[in-house]
Amino acid sequence: MSKDRDEFDVFRYEDCNLCGECLSKCRYLGLNVTGAVEEMKRLIAGEPTRTVHSRCISCYACDAFCPHDCHPYELILKTWHERYRKQGLPVRAAYLMPTSSPNFRTDMVGTMAPREQSLLRKWEATPPEGDLVLFPGCNLLTMPHLVDAPFMEGIVISGDLDLCCGEMFFRMGLFDEVKRTAEKLTRYYRDREIGTMLFVCPAGLNMFRNVLPRFFGAEFSFETRFLGDYLWDKVSAGEIELTGKLDHSIAVHDSCHGRILGDEVTGSTRKLYAAMGLELRELVTDLREGLCCGMAAGSRRCRPDDMFLAAVKELQAAAKTGADQLSTYCTGCRLMLDMMRWLYPTRQPVRHLLEYLKQATGDATVHRTHARTLRMLANVVIHALPHLLSRETCRIEV
Ligand code: SF4
Ligand code: SF4
Repeated sequence: MSKDRDEFDVFRYEDCNLCGECLSKCRYLGLNVTGAVEEMKRLIAGEPTRTVHSRCISCYACDAFCPHDCHPYELILKTWHERYRKQGLPVRAAYLMPTSSPNFRTDMVGTMAPREQSLLRKWEATPPEGDLVLFPGCNLLTMPHLVDAPFMEGIVISGDLDLCCGEMFFRMGLFDEVKRTAEKLTRYYRDREIGTMLFVCPAGLNMFRNVLPRFFGAEFSFETRFLGDYLWDKVSAGEIELTGKLDHSIAVHDSCHGRILGDEVTGSTRKLYAAMGLELRELVTDLREGLCCGMAAGSRRCRPDDMFLAAVKELQAAAKTGADQLSTYCTGCRLMLDMMRWLYPTRQPVRHLLEYLKQATGDATVHRTHARTLRMLANVVIHALPHLLSRETCRIEV
């Protein structure tokens, strides 16, 4: 039994039968069942692990593998939570944190086209009220053009870069900051007239639906739904007309949160892809075994090389499918995989589900997201890399 339980200890000790499925199925640890069970025993006892904490890239898949919903992932994060309480974060992480000013996302706003900047101002000024409200999330706010489309008619978009869902903090084990985020969002949305909150980003959906209310005390009175699922209903009902069939083949990358949320995300997106004429090339047979885009791989040590190596693994897996393009429905994965292609060029451009939907509904506008991710990468190199070897630490203010 764990020696130190605190309010954030969400692992279900009583339900774990030490089957080892969670860690033996992990594609990053390289453990057999016996090794996985030994590591689970150490995690549960609060002892140092031999493999998990040196190889885990925070991909979240072990929660999806556990047949008893025990949340082994949160048990791993607990160690990082305790580390942060004692030591803080390496200062090189500061520029990547959503609450830092400036950060790698806020620095993109000034480089956007006037139309995109005006959308951001409008969404910041719009109150979150209505039957259908979209929580844009920080990654969409760096690519506002994705939802600048007639198929978004009837949806109120409200939010800005200060309204963070806390997902990055959660993945890094910064549980005190997630708790403060839960309190802030509960206050912000209290007494708002919202029917359903839509999420373009599976991470935001999982945070609002599961993580924040179940583990961090948030209270929301609205329903939550994945935007792709809503759009699929509209397409299948003929309310969104697909005027042009696309004829590419695509390797489909799933997001970590998409794998946790299941068919609402992974199924609706595939139906949309297929309805647009795209030929799907799956990267794995069991979707829970898909790889990380690289974003979460920075959680353990805040090191860019960890992120790069994880992204390359997925870019290589996608290339092996022979598909024309690599597609994802997650805005974070869209940015990350695209950014890493500047360092590890592949012949498959990265596209978001909504880029295809815009094309299939008659929007021929070309947006230079690939050039934007180069700027983003250059900014990260300028602001974060000089601190790579620094022992200085920092704290997050929510
Ligand atoms: S979070 Fe991902 S990398 Fe870490 S142990 Fe779980 S499955 Fe493996
Ligand atoms: S956390 Fe779940 S999968 Fe892992 S050992 Fe326990 S019961 Fe098995």
